[in-house]
Amino acid sequence: MGIFQKIFGKEQCTLCGAECGALHRTKIKGGEYVCSDCVKKCSAYVRVSEMDRAEVDGHIEYMRRQEQLYQTLFVNARLETFPTGVTKQGITFADELGMFTILDRMSGKNKVYHEMFRYDQVAGYERYEEMNQPTEPGQPETLKERGIKLRLYGAADHIEMDEATSRRGFRSHPYVRREIKVVFQTSDNGTDYTDNAIAHFNAIFGVHDDEHALFSFGMNKKEKRDLMGAIAFAKTAGAAIKVAKDGEASLTDEKKAELEQQMNAMQDAQTGGLAEYTRRADAAEDKVFGGMDQ
Ligand SMILES: [Zn+2]
Repeated sequence: MGIFQKIFGKEQCTLCGAECGALHRTKIKGGEYVCSDCVKKCSAYVRVSEMDRAEVDGHIEYMRRQEQLYQTLFVNARLETFPTGVTKQGITFADELGMFTILDRMSGKNKVYHEMFRYDQVAGYERYEEMNQPTEPGQPETLKERGIKLRLYGAADHIEMDEATSRRGFRSHPYVRREIKVVFQTSDNGTDYTDNAIAHFNAIFGVHDDEHALFSFGMNKKEKRDLMGAIAFAKTAGAAIKVAKDGEASLTDEKKAELEQQMNAMQDAQTGGLAEYTRRADAAEDKVFGGMDQ
């Protein structure tokens, strides 16, 4: 094969078999090619060129399931989106599922599948702002873009999941390794919703739960959670002794349900409230994928 043929000749997509020209394919690890239609089925936050055939294949299957979850549960959940009226990108929270998705009217708009992220996959989030240098000296800087940077728990070059982290309830994302930038605004026209979205993340992660609101009396959220955890521990310990003495059959279904609730309360106290969202996300995934091999 000549060099011209090598660069401009058609190649076959290793996944779907389609013929693809130089502008409509991505070379993957191992030297095979994936056509642009198959790449559209991948997440906007992965680099397909860094995966091998088996990984891309598995990833597309993962994305297909994400779409299924999106269509069956996410669209029917109570949703909260920032900014309202997304023109660039935005975040839609579904607290009842413990998940969010990123709306993308920019680069991601030709993606085939929707993708959800679990709250317990989030390793960090922060507001960011980039400015344009003034074209003439003495002029003020102007806004280039602002929004939120997100980092997820993942393997390899990203944030290591150490034992302590996974015990605190966090989950590793199976594919996304890079920082995600969600562009809320590219000019100062319109309202800045960045802090609203940050506040929503803060509420999820219980960031201000140990602060008393001004003039509020009694226990704050964290103290309540810790107390519930302590009470639950005492109750659970009692039940555990009964089980040890009389066997599990000695527990009524009612008592078992109560026990499960108490154990959840203990978990909440340990994970700063995040465990509640983990349970919701698990339940959502069970509902959609329960009958499938995972
Ligand atoms: Zn293909």
